[in-house]
Amino acid sequence: MDRLQLVRESLTRKVEEPKGPSCKTSDYFGDLVFDRKKMAQYLEPGTLQALYSCMEGGTSLDSKTADGVALGMKKWAMEHGVTHVTHWFQPLTEGTAEKHDSLIDYDGKGGVIETFDGKMLAQQEPDASSFPSGGIRATFEARGYTAWDPTSPVFILDDTLCIPTVFISYTGDALDYKTPLKRALKAVSDAAVPVCKLFDSKVTKVYSYLGWEQEYFLVDEALYSARTDLMLTGRTLFGHNSSKDQQLDDHYFAAIPTRVAAFMRDLEFAAYHLGIPLKTRHNEVAPGQFEMAPIFGETNLANDQNQLIMNLMNRIAPRHGFVVLLHEKPFDGVNGSGKHNNWSLGTDTGTLLMAPGKDAKGNLQFITFFVNTLAAVQKHNGLLKASIASATNAHRLGANEAPPAIVSAFLGQTMTQVLRKLLEVPSDTPIEIAGKKGKKLGLVEIPEIFLDNTDRNRTSPFAFTGNRFEFRAVGSSANCAGAMTTLNAAVAEQLLQFKEDVDQELAAGKPLNVAVMDTLKPIIRSVLDVICFEGNGYSEEWKKEAARRGLNVETNVPKMICEFTRPESLQMFTRTGVYSERELTARNEVKWEIYVKKVQIEARVMYRMAVNHIIPAAVEYKTALLKEVALSQQVYGNQDNCVTELQLLSLLDKHINSVRLQAQAMKEACDKAEAIGNTYEQALAFHEVAESFPALRRPIDKLEELVDNKLWPLPKYRELLFIN
Ligand code: ADP
Ligand code: MG
Repeated sequence: MDRLQLVRESLTRKVEEPKGPSCKTSDYFGDLVFDRKKMAQYLEPGTLQALYSCMEGGTSLDSKTADGVALGMKKWAMEHGVTHVTHWFQPLTEGTAEKHDSLIDYDGKGGVIETFDGKMLAQQEPDASSFPSGGIRATFEARGYTAWDPTSPVFILDDTLCIPTVFISYTGDALDYKTPLKRALKAVSDAAVPVCKLFDSKVTKVYSYLGWEQEYFLVDEALYSARTDLMLTGRTLFGHNSSKDQQLDDHYFAAIPTRVAAFMRDLEFAAYHLGIPLKTRHNEVAPGQFEMAPIFGETNLANDQNQLIMNLMNRIAPRHGFVVLLHEKPFDGVNGSGKHNNWSLGTDTGTLLMAPGKDAKGNLQFITFFVNTLAAVQKHNGLLKASIASATNAHRLGANEAPPAIVSAFLGQTMTQVLRKLLEVPSDTPIEIAGKKGKKLGLVEIPEIFLDNTDRNRTSPFAFTGNRFEFRAVGSSANCAGAMTTLNAAVAEQLLQFKEDVDQELAAGKPLNVAVMDTLKPIIRSVLDVICFEGNGYSEEWKKEAARRGLNVETNVPKMICEFTRPESLQMFTRTGVYSERELTARNEVKWEIYVKKVQIEARVMYRMAVNHIIPAAVEYKTALLKEVALSQQVYGNQDNCVTELQLLSLLDKHINSVRLQAQAMKEACDKAEAIGNTYEQALAFHEVAESFPALRRPIDKLEELVDNKLWPLPKYRELLFIN
């Protein structure tokens, strides 16, 4: 069986990967991707050059080049048995969208031939009127266009050539995640290059890097199918905790269960063919929870790969009898899932800007980018939180194992000390920073230990980890682009401001290092006072302290979303060219709408499960007990032997009544919310509905503890959470 065949099989049913020395990962890594190697092999030299220049952002794709590229691509694809082609895009719903077209066309001689040209590659017009647009596209002009993003390579999935594209409206407004992300990446490069040039004139481009850590749960397919809530909402809406879950921390980093390891291997096998450089796999904290992470890469590509891997996971899991849960909080009482976004910037000359440099100048450059990043996070802390806010992530934020619903930054002891020391140095003193060897060169010193400094504070949503910042608040089901667009745009804005300020200092005749430090000092003072926090982010005191510092402490998701259209945000996004006001307004509508629908679905599922599953089971048990009591009475002539049964009956009655009342109240609140016309107002009303869920859940979980196990209609946490 050839390799392509194997990959196809691996996506649908069990295959044994050929083993042996002839089968190194590096031999087949990326062979289903039309990467630079394949471009060089399949494209004419002129076409190749034109495409490279387009990929590097120098030129846009002309029709002649597009035709040339399509020709080579078609040859490569057909050699791999491709029959269909699709534009692959990321609308504002979850996941990716694709509409496959066969390659066939009439040949004019009564038969068909395979065709694929530049037009099909470069642009399509999917009838995509059902995708959310927040009112940007009225139904009468429902056109949406997809256009090829040459910076993300084309790949083959099954029999289909997938072309990563942006998705925009007739009026040019972004209707997807990719378009604003690409704008933000350009903005951060454009803003960072002039700053880099202060230190190194050779820099012409700055890249944003992303390394995502994808957390997920696996559950048994059969048990999953017996839980309507998991199937329809992705999480359990009820469930008493298991006597043992994560108390012993015995799942974290433990040996990977055999069945799970087999799933991971199949997933990696498919991922490697598609050029996704998966590096790490391990058990996470909660039972049934796992994580994987690739080697970090350029943000746009890394994000496409994350979208693709989520798709692959869903396809491959059933082969092992699993369903993947990407929801942020599938089970109450145990850890939820996030997607830490490890983020940094680097130059086209190979310098990582979020890591200390080799010499004083390099360190100054590092401090410049480090401090400006903190300033951007400080200024837009509420917006960054809004960028990861969703109905599903709301269950995780502010809960006890996840980042609090306050964005602060953790620097670690070393960097905090470095910043403090910098403030003590007189401004007119040239500053030298000690090299890694620990040799003292001047007043401020970065200890030798620095690069290996693995200070960790798991309670911080934005933590420095040696050569990058880790934005931990991103949800496991999210498209990373939401967070990455906002972060890169905010940093871009800050760098533009910094460059203006530093230029003034330079114009006043100051030497570079003094000009830079003079500009940085007030920023350092401010970030140390406001955004930097080294303590326990879960504590109550921090909530008070954060509010005192003026950080955003909002916990209501629909309200958080308003951050996008605050004047500071509008100004930042328009200055960097990332979103227009119209796009922001439209996106808020979409976010509220999705929020409303998610909560509405959960409320409906909850109501029906309570009324159709839970109450009947509890009543059946109650009836059995009543019969037992009546029988006792008949036999013994009194109820004296039935004291515990009678107590149990009164408890059952209490909880059953409570379920009925709460379910009814929730339904009424839902009906009221559904009647509201304004999307924002409606989202606020549904937020209240969501807040009432625990009141319904509590008596149901109590009933689970009381009712005969045989009668309980749902698989329990103790069954769902443990894989064997
Ligand atoms: P952790 O110890 O935080 O769990 P992992 O090894 O699970 O770390 O994941 C760390 C992620 O960060 C990986 O994807 C890794 O490639 C990525 N990463 C490492 N250095 C950088 C960097 N400079 N910029 C962006 N991402 C990075
Ligand atoms: Mg990790």
